[in-house]
Amino acid sequence: MTETAEAPVITRIPHWIGGRRVEGGSGRSGPVFNPATGQQTGAVDFATAEEVDVAVQAAREAFSAWRETSLAKRAELFFRIRELLHARREEVAEILTREHGKVLSDALGEVTRGLEVVEHCCGIPNLIKGEHSEQVSTGIDVYSIRQPLGVVAGITPFNFPAMVPMWMWAPAIACGNCFVLKPSEKDPSASLWTAELLREAGLPDGVFNVVMGDRVAVDAVLEHPDVAAVSFVGSTPIARYVYEKATGSGKRCQALGGAKNHMIVLPDADVDAAADAAVSAGYGSAGERCMAVSVVVAVGDVAQPLVDAIRERIPKVKVGDGMDPASEMGPLVTREHRDRVASYVENAPGEGATVVVDGREGVPDEGFFLNPSLLDDVTPQMQAYVDEIFGPVLGVTRVATYEEAVGLVNDSPYGNGVAIFTRDGGAARQFQFDVQAGMVGINVPIPVPVAYYSFGGWKSSLFGDRHVYGPEAIDFYTRGKVVTQRWPDPATSRIDLGFPQTR
Ligand code: NAD
Repeated sequence: MTETAEAPVITRIPHWIGGRRVEGGSGRSGPVFNPATGQQTGAVDFATAEEVDVAVQAAREAFSAWRETSLAKRAELFFRIRELLHARREEVAEILTREHGKVLSDALGEVTRGLEVVEHCCGIPNLIKGEHSEQVSTGIDVYSIRQPLGVVAGITPFNFPAMVPMWMWAPAIACGNCFVLKPSEKDPSASLWTAELLREAGLPDGVFNVVMGDRVAVDAVLEHPDVAAVSFVGSTPIARYVYEKATGSGKRCQALGGAKNHMIVLPDADVDAAADAAVSAGYGSAGERCMAVSVVVAVGDVAQPLVDAIRERIPKVKVGDGMDPASEMGPLVTREHRDRVASYVENAPGEGATVVVDGREGVPDEGFFLNPSLLDDVTPQMQAYVDEIFGPVLGVTRVATYEEAVGLVNDSPYGNGVAIFTRDGGAARQFQFDVQAGMVGINVPIPVPVAYYSFGGWKSSLFGDRHVYGPEAIDFYTRGKVVTQRWPDPATSRIDLGFPQTR
């Protein structure tokens, strides 16, 4: 008897406009894969500029009623969104695992961290408060208010398909804006799931829209005259492009880019704790995190014991399908990306680095897997040091002094996250003072700020001057207005052509 392989079902993934699914009419689409099997599972519609316009118009139409919705009602709605997201977080985590590849526990972690931003936004009445000064001049008061911008857009990367959109839509909508999301075309289903959940929670139609697509959709968003602001998270070249194009057309823009995060280990550090942290932060989510540790900078004689301790731990990392609860690290997002990441291991000896653990060995034929790799003797001239690899390849750079280590971080074009491992409080404090990066960990390898602080890097890791979520998001998604008021007795009114002065 011959076996017939069943053709996999390929689900069409449409846009979400004005509170409903809308199939695209461009005839263009992109494949979505299950990275653990390598099978195509979806086809995501790619929007035309006209379809982006329809989404922006839906958002525009919803705007005046939404901005008039009281803060009390917006807060109440955010509590409902929070409850639904919390209750159904496992559902969306499964979607993330099936399209991104990250293991289920990590996907749940992503949703939970995103949920913290939604929880923070439940406090919108408090977050958006202005200031009031009574009697700034005789009989005159001054107060400030913050008002929404209108239609704002978010363009997001593949590596956090639920959390990064939450960083954007939650504060944007809480502030009274209407939102158009252009998620990554590699794992778009979480955005549709979110749209349905927001409608179920009671968000009015048009306040949250999703346009699927590629560069055509991105350009249409950036060029649209009715889009007031753009938040972007992705790679540095595209972040720079988005920032320049958006600001060139008069929009407010925050564009978060790539990273090359260093973890400095001083000679006095606890080697086991540092090795645990390096393995967790280097290989978690298969290294596809903008806050992943990519380079371990070993200072002085800690280098060899540290390399040995990391090497010992690597074989114990369980690599497999993210749906298997035993798996600790899943596959990479696409075959092309896996092959690109593997090329850094292949080229390492030619560059003069030592391959301590070769992750290309023992990977299954199916799916886009690569095992953890460890490179030693990586120097700043090597491609493996310069490039953001965005995969499970950890490099160790050996230096003699603390000054050399900090110099490496400060010379990097990126400045997203950085960490130091030490038992010396004075050294840690000096490091916090010296280092040029937006997020610093002291014995914490992935220092992603909690929701009531803001997230963002320095240098080529962020174009724009506002970080995402937390207090800076409230600034980003609103415009300030200052009102000077007087309620004079008409009997005291007179003409005065002089410039107003306070008295
Ligand atoms: P990417 O830059 O390829 O894509 C991001 C978004 O831009 C996607 O929506 C994509 O459709 C769009 N895009 C891609 N090419 C484009 C083009 N030529 N013109 C217009 N739009 C385009 O990034 P990615 O591969 O999805 O995500 C990984 C990158 O994101 C890494 O560099 C990572 O460091 C970065 N990232 C940064 C942060 C941060 O907070 N700084 C967070 C997460 C991810």
